[in-house]
Amino acid sequence: MARKHNPYENFKEVLDKAAKLLDLTENDYITIKYPERSLHVSLPIKMDNGDVRVFEGFRVQHSSSRGPCKGGIRYHPDVDEDEVKALAAWMTMKCAVVNIPYGGAKGGIQVDPRTLSKGELERLTRRFIAMILPLIGPERDIPAPDVNTTPEIMGWIMDTYSMQKGYAVPGVVTGKPIEVGGSLGRKEATGRGVMISARLLMEKLGRTLEGATVSVQGMGNVGSVAALLLHRAGAKVVAVSDISGGFYNPDGLPIEELFEHVSQRKLLNQYPNQGFTLITNDQLLEMDVDLLVPAAMENQISRSNAPHVRAKYIVEAANGPITPTADEILDKNGVIVVPDILANAGGVVVSYFEWVQNLQSFRWEEDYVNDMLEHTMVRAFNEVWDLAHEKNSSLRMGAYMSALQRVVAAKKLRGIFP
Ligand code: NAD
Repeated sequence: MARKHNPYENFKEVLDKAAKLLDLTENDYITIKYPERSLHVSLPIKMDNGDVRVFEGFRVQHSSSRGPCKGGIRYHPDVDEDEVKALAAWMTMKCAVVNIPYGGAKGGIQVDPRTLSKGELERLTRRFIAMILPLIGPERDIPAPDVNTTPEIMGWIMDTYSMQKGYAVPGVVTGKPIEVGGSLGRKEATGRGVMISARLLMEKLGRTLEGATVSVQGMGNVGSVAALLLHRAGAKVVAVSDISGGFYNPDGLPIEELFEHVSQRKLLNQYPNQGFTLITNDQLLEMDVDLLVPAAMENQISRSNAPHVRAKYIVEAANGPITPTADEILDKNGVIVVPDILANAGGVVVSYFEWVQNLQSFRWEEDYVNDMLEHTMVRAFNEVWDLAHEKNSSLRMGAYMSALQRVVAAKKLRGIFP
């Protein structure tokens, strides 16, 4: 069934707007509208009960203009080619906005991993990697975690690739467990980047995070760390949610305990309620707070609920949580949005650091990783802020313009083969 909001069409719409602000001609950026490669694979898996089931998987390489392709792998029932294409294109823009030497890619399998046993999940992962093996490699395309994929799964990916090569190749995938070449600080990096983005926005506006009220949608890898670090930075997290629903408490929620709870891969509705108000995801998005952090899936804020958003600021931890139409409504209503390709870039920045460590067979201290992440985020945020103000546009346009300039420059310098 066709999606109501095709995320790849959303990407192209935003790209066109940014290109117009930069006075680019269609010739300058037409290639960015097309992914370089797309592979659709069938994955037969022997289930524990002896049945054979076939899953569909995708790997899309959007661009290799600025370096090897880079992007996560998602396990979710809604995965389809257009979603993976959009996620891959956003990776190209994200790597360019933070100026790391990568292009963009993404992968996905159409599956709800909670319905599989651990053995089935491992067989599915290994079969997927075997099928996309010709495309990936440390110089080619480097996967990482995304929704429903974990460091353990990244370990299986490293092993599957290494077994084919006959020697250990840690640089083929990032987000690995520390013991097999993962980087200190990678697990927290996306959430940390979200917190840094929120802090920088507040600083630009002459405010601080101290006492700012926050609601967070999605308490997975990204949302739970963002909530924890915002809380530790002095913000008051009053609402959180996940797929099972959410909690609201005007005096603030016990974020340290909630973080421990979800870290054990438990849902929020399994948390013993201490008198908090139960809320739905729709209610969470419309809470009267200073800062809203959508950290779940795309298209959560659309034309229908955008007029009801009461947050003053939104920091997009998820990829594509706001549709272009909703973005315009929010902009008109004075809601300031720090866009996904900047706000959630912390993950790929530390993935890049992990890959660099793997290629050098060297290990950085966690403080050094975090300092380098901070430095990278501050530089990118300032560039986006300045460009947005120079062109009198939104921060999303600032981020897209910053990224587009870099991708277009690389494409021009390389030229078109043959
Ligand atoms: P995750 O699987 O760890 O967590 C997803 C969370 O969202 C879970 O708490 C889940 O219950 C919740 N959720 C799912 N569907 C929902 C719905 N319809 N309503 C409310 N909650 C829902 O995934 P993650 O890695 O934290 O990724 C979250 C978002 O961040 C995605 O958009 C992903 O692409 C983006 N992102 C992730 C990374 C990373 O390093 N993992 C990096 C950049 C961007």
